[in-house]
Amino acid sequence: MWVKDIFYSFQGEGPYIGVPQIFLRFYGCNIHCAYCDEPDFSHQKKNYTRDQVLAELAPLMAKKPHSISITGGEPMLQTDAILEIAPHIEVPLYLETNATMPEKLDVLLPYIRYYSVDYKPGFLKEFTAFIAKIAAYHASPFPLESGSSATNDRHLNPPKTLQETLFVKLVLTPGFSPEETASVAKAVADLGIQIPFIIQPVTPFGTVQQKASMQDIEQNFAAAQTWLSDVRIIGQTHKFIGVR
Ligand code: SF4
Repeated sequence: MWVKDIFYSFQGEGPYIGVPQIFLRFYGCNIHCAYCDEPDFSHQKKNYTRDQVLAELAPLMAKKPHSISITGGEPMLQTDAILEIAPHIEVPLYLETNATMPEKLDVLLPYIRYYSVDYKPGFLKEFTAFIAKIAAYHASPFPLESGSSATNDRHLNPPKTLQETLFVKLVLTPGFSPEETASVAKAVADLGIQIPFIIQPVTPFGTVQQKASMQDIEQNFAAAQTWLSDVRIIGQTHKFIGVR
């Protein structure tokens, strides 16, 4: 499995800001966002076995993390690797994904406790299918996939509500279309669910050198609020407090 980094820090985005986490950062992504702060050009990748990953995680567990962030790049490019590791990890898994590959999600559903699901422009159909699967699984009386002995299994460690387990995030670049934001929020509302909808003003990086304006923020907030009740503006806190 291709890993870029394993480290302890604090969640810097979304409703779980500030919780201590171990970050298991997989290498590589299937899309290319202009503002990406984990571009592949660095080529810092390690070809690890499952046991090497578990050996690096083990000493970090002593810091009592809230969860392990399975992140990237795009971790769902390496679903098989996540499945190899998940049954051997005893703290909840927190998946950060671009939601472009809903067809790969089913096998992970029994193992993931928290979902940080990004909307990426051009992938509304995939995004909608992705969150629909999570909502359906959460509402089902038994897991679609059974037989897990992991402590992440929801029978042993169940999420309390869908709002606790799933939130969506839209990175707000300058001039982002409020109509597109409204389409994303409507897609969520049309599923009959209400979950936190996070608008994350972009941190200038790469070819994106400007922040979103106050007008961008207000207009996109209002567009999302037309459809959803829990809309929040939350930036990337780890960037300004200076942690990874
Ligand atoms: S989906 Fe995430 S990792 Fe992939 S290019 Fe976009 S910001 Fe970077």
